[in-house]
Amino acid sequence: MELTIIGSGTGIPSRTRAYPCTLLKLKDEYMVFDTGPGSLRQLFLAGVTYLDIDYICYSHFHPDHSLDLVSFLFAMRYNDPGRIKPLHVIGPSGLKAFYERLLMVYGDSIKPRSFKLYFKEIDSGRLSYDNFEITVEMLKHSMHSIGFRIESSDGKALVYSGDTDFCEEIVRLSKNVNTLILECSFPDDQKVEGHLTPSLCARIAEKSGCKRLILTHFYPICDSTIHNNKELLNDLKNIYDGEIIFADDFSVFII
Ligand SMILES: [Zn+2]
Ligand SMILES: [Zn+2]
Repeated sequence: MELTIIGSGTGIPSRTRAYPCTLLKLKDEYMVFDTGPGSLRQLFLAGVTYLDIDYICYSHFHPDHSLDLVSFLFAMRYNDPGRIKPLHVIGPSGLKAFYERLLMVYGDSIKPRSFKLYFKEIDSGRLSYDNFEITVEMLKHSMHSIGFRIESSDGKALVYSGDTDFCEEIVRLSKNVNTLILECSFPDDQKVEGHLTPSLCARIAEKSGCKRLILTHFYPICDSTIHNNKELLNDLKNIYDGEIIFADDFSVFII
C-alpha cells in the first residue's frame, strides 16, 4: 500500500497545510479518507484525478472533512473524459441523509450521469472487498465519528483515526497495526475536548503496539509547537519508542 498525506491541516487556513485529506493506493485502486475543501485540486497536484478515485471514506461530517464531496461529484459530471467506474462512499450513520441534503441544495449538478454511486453506512464492524478488508470503530468526537482500519490481502494494515479524543476504541482498532495515522490537533497544555494532543497520540501508539505513528491534522497552535519545541520528539519517544513522523502535505509512505 502507498499512503499520501494530501492535506495535513484542519478547518483553519494555513500557508503550509491543506484541509484534511489522505490518499491510499491499494494495488490499482485508490481510496481517499475525508475530503476537506480544496482536496480535489490537492489530489490533482499529487497526480490523482476525480476519475481515479474508487472509494471515499468519511470519518465524520464536519465541514473540514466533508465539504469537497460536492466538488468531487460536480467534477465527475464532466464528460471529457466521462467517469465510468463506480464510486463507493463509506461513512457513519447519517451519510445517506447528508447526500440527500446536498441534493436538495445542488440538485442535478451533483447527480451522477455516467457512473454508479454507492453509499455504505457503518458505525462499527467489518467490510470485505476483493483486495482488502475495512474494520470500523466508533470514536470519541462528534455524534457519529468513526476510524478506519484497512488490511490488505498481503497482510499489511493501516489505521486512519479521523478526529477523536483518547478512547479505548482507537487503541483496539490500532492493535499491532503497521502504520497508525492519528489526528494531533492541539498542544498538550491547550487540549480541547474531542481532540488529541501529541502525548495522547504517543500513548495510543504505545498501547496499540503499532510499528509507526504518523501525526496529522495540526491546528496552527499545534503546528507552531511541533516546530518550536525542540524537546517534543524526545518527550514523545519516552512514551512510545516506535517511529514517529509529523506529516506534511504530500508526504508519501510505503506500508
Ligand atoms: Zn477536523
Ligand atoms: Zn471534526
